[in-house]
Amino acid sequence: MQRSTPDVDVLIVGAGITGIYQLHRARESGFSVRLLEAGSGVGGTWYWNRYPGARFDSESYTYGYLFSEELFEEWVWEEHFAGQPEIERYLNHVVDRFDLRRHMRFDTRVTAAVWDDASGTWLVTTSDGTECRARFLVAATGVLSVPYTPDIPGRDDFRGVQHHTGLWPKESVDFVGKRVAVVGTSSSGVQVVPTILDDVASITVYQRTANWCTPLNNRPITPEEQAQLRAGFEDLRETLNTSLSGFAHPVNVQSGADASPAERRALFEQLWNSPGFMKLTSNYSDLLFNEVVNDEWCAFIAEQIRGIVHDPDTAERLIPKDHGFGGKRPPFVIGYFEAFNDPKVSLVDLRDTAIVRVTEAGIETTDGVREFDIIVWATGFDFGTGALSRMGIIGRDGLALTDHWADGPSTFLGLQTRGFPNFFFPGGPHAAAGNNPRYNGDMVDILTDTLLYARDHGFDVIEVTVESEERWTRMVDKGAAVTTFGTVGQYTGSNIPGKPRRYLLNTGGRLKLREISAQVVADDYHAYEMSKAPTRPGKR
Ligand SMILES: Cc1cc2nc3c(=O)[nH]c(=O)nc-3n(C[C@H](O)[C@H](O)[C@H](O)COP(=O)(O)OP(=O)(O)OC[C@H]3O[C@@H](n4cnc5c(N)ncnc54)[C@H](O)[C@@H]3O)c2cc1C
Repeated sequence: MQRSTPDVDVLIVGAGITGIYQLHRARESGFSVRLLEAGSGVGGTWYWNRYPGARFDSESYTYGYLFSEELFEEWVWEEHFAGQPEIERYLNHVVDRFDLRRHMRFDTRVTAAVWDDASGTWLVTTSDGTECRARFLVAATGVLSVPYTPDIPGRDDFRGVQHHTGLWPKESVDFVGKRVAVVGTSSSGVQVVPTILDDVASITVYQRTANWCTPLNNRPITPEEQAQLRAGFEDLRETLNTSLSGFAHPVNVQSGADASPAERRALFEQLWNSPGFMKLTSNYSDLLFNEVVNDEWCAFIAEQIRGIVHDPDTAERLIPKDHGFGGKRPPFVIGYFEAFNDPKVSLVDLRDTAIVRVTEAGIETTDGVREFDIIVWATGFDFGTGALSRMGIIGRDGLALTDHWADGPSTFLGLQTRGFPNFFFPGGPHAAAGNNPRYNGDMVDILTDTLLYARDHGFDVIEVTVESEERWTRMVDKGAAVTTFGTVGQYTGSNIPGKPRRYLLNTGGRLKLREISAQVVADDYHAYEMSKAPTRPGKR
């Protein structure tokens, strides 16, 4: 007879910043826990993306955990925007500091998870063939954890070295004196280019879409700032916990339409010199809604690009022509445009000359072949649903998640979907853009409270109602019809051939997440059907 008692209460998949927090919350709540991770270490995004130049574009101290003041005080971030090695060290520190590592298994990919109605448990199978039965399955598998490389003929023929930025090897890649191709100019590609510039013989940048890159304006955190951060922990936590974007930036309530041209110019100059995402979060309140204001900000950035890049043709090609600011997630850069003034760097505009194939020696476009020693694929991710659709998830009555979501995801709170009881996915599709750990942390808190409610009331099975899911999904889709943010590219699935075009972020943002989850509590969790497992009678 099949064993039906769970091995653990909560099985978490993914050791990124969300999964680590989920492990901490579940354990401190008294659940038995286990965490499975495909990689051989902690960090998620910050484990896999170890390419040259990988770094935060959230301020370090706003990205790190806020659940422990001691942790906040003892970890001294070196820079306002930390690089990947420092972030990976931090996450490892957290795991050891809170004794979480003993619950984690690495090099363990979940290949199947099947719901068993009779016992009210998930049977989870991993790449090494082991099985684990869990009451609750939490996929903290990330939205940017499945790297995407376009299916270009001949990729395997290339005799040189090639890596995707999101699967970068631990061993250092030697760029010295090498001819390098960087394919892709979104957030990762634009970080790689200036970082390897001093070492290489040449860099050829293959650009399909120009992006609205603006300066990151990173710098070390001074001792005075370190002291201020520590003294201001409570205020910072309050700010971050209440900020809609999850950032601590001052919000600008003024609309650009109400400002004079001189005022707008002054603000744009100030923003150009401001750190990271402030260019979005502290910009005019109507930046994403008023085309005139957006156009003027874009014109300002274009003017800066023309001022930096000496060759007018290259400058023009680096200026986006097909979307406004925010239409794609804006990258933040350190010396990217300046790199094009180095004779070692050249730009290939794929709109003029598309890639035909990869050859043994390099990349062939309609213009001819260029030879390389190294190809860096900075070609993005299968955003939102990529990891979940590869986990072999089968819900009630044999329903595969991939079939259930064939036209794109439907969720409640971006946390659960009907037909898949006891399955949660914080930080997955219908999570929000912004400073990720703040929003994903909210999701972990909401779902942990839901598990606690079920436990306190003697329920084993939690399933979202049809109405709750429809209501939330309708809200997301309605917002998607009017939003201008991220409508070009990965947030809509349009970078992946064959993927349904569906907006994958929660358009209601943190505000809606909080509003609806508060209603759930006030309404005594009637957004869910909760029951005992069939072996234990009783249903609400
Ligand atoms: C280069 C880069 C820079 C970024 N910079 C920022 C930033 O500055 N600020 C910001 O807010 N956000 C940033 N992001 C977004 C980033 O993904 C989130 O901030 C955050 O790391 C998400 O954490 P997570 O734990 O939800 O997912 P992840 O960090 O992606 O972790 C998911 C983990 O799940 C594992 N996994 C997936 N499927 C399986 C499976 N079947 N079995 C076992 N394990 C599995 C993966 O191996 C991975 O380790 C960045 C993303 C990238 C790619």
